[in-house]
Amino acid sequence: MEKKASVLIIEDDRYISNFICMSLKQEGYRYLKAATGEEALRLCYEENPDVIILDLGLPDVDGIEVIEHIRSHCERPIIVVSARQEESEKIKALDMGADDYVVKPFYMGELLARIRVAMRKSEKAVQMEMTQTFQRDYLKIDFMNRAVYVEEKKIHLTPIEYKLLALLVANRGKVLTHNQILSRIWGSTESGDANSLRVFMATLRRKIEKDTTNPRFIVTEVGVGYRFAER
Ligand code: CA
Repeated sequence: MEKKASVLIIEDDRYISNFICMSLKQEGYRYLKAATGEEALRLCYEENPDVIILDLGLPDVDGIEVIEHIRSHCERPIIVVSARQEESEKIKALDMGADDYVVKPFYMGELLARIRVAMRKSEKAVQMEMTQTFQRDYLKIDFMNRAVYVEEKKIHLTPIEYKLLALLVANRGKVLTHNQILSRIWGSTESGDANSLRVFMATLRRKIEKDTTNPRFIVTEVGVGYRFAER
């Protein structure tokens, strides 16, 4: 039998923690619970969970610090589940190395979907797909030949537009902050800025989206960054 994936839930609110654990159990995951940052780090070292769910408001340390500690020794996906909805908090968490951010109150179905995205990413399945083709509705990307098709018609993308699209597709379902995108495309956040990114994104959207005011593929996370639609 396949080994069950394990999820570490770092949450001091027992009601929320139990609610998440029950749902995970139903979905066939193993789970571990921590109510403080200290306990969380210990469990992280000892148990090496497959996915980490993290509340930011913990009694002993701030969740942002927990992300920093975890990232110093472990690459496992971290999904922040927090009541903090300020853009600056999301950006801080994502820039620090969190993989995703879910605002409370949340739908369990959405959290489970984000967990699946995180697992898929960490299983490197996406990298395997990257050597082949990606198809979503009327958009097709042939990674081998760096060719992009809209309704079977080949379209022309500049090298930067192609890199942007490939980066978003490789991370689909997950928010990428402006800084993350800038450093991955331009190598640093200095040479590109959020404004030029917005311009490149607008021209890319005009080329691949049928309705740019209601994008099908590249979703704006206002003030935070962009996400390629998971489905
Ligand atoms: Ca809390």
